[in-house]
Amino acid sequence: MGGDAREPRAPEMDAELRLDGNAAAGALEELFAFEVTAAVATCEGCGRETAVGALDAYDLEMGVVLRCPGCDGVMIRAARGRGAWSVEMRGVRVLQVKTPR
Ligand SMILES: [Zn+2]
Repeated sequence: MGGDAREPRAPEMDAELRLDGNAAAGALEELFAFEVTAAVATCEGCGRETAVGALDAYDLEMGVVLRCPGCDGVMIRAARGRGAWSVEMRGVRVLQVKTPR
């Protein structure tokens, strides 16, 4: 894992508006309850938008690698070990998840 996902903060987004992640529980629970194969991933390399279920998948001993069918760039790597999944998605610029309504 790596990369720099930090976004510059606007000054007004600081102190008085800051809560911890628990305050976002409702939104995050709705978001992460999605049907993953229907989510649409935008490739960081070429900008192509592809449903996760239509990416090229390579099933490996330790996990899975999903590649862009347009440019063959690695979009998602997921590895299983020591009781947890580790997911790296630096090849995905945006993941669009349909809202339930
Ligand atoms: Zn691509």
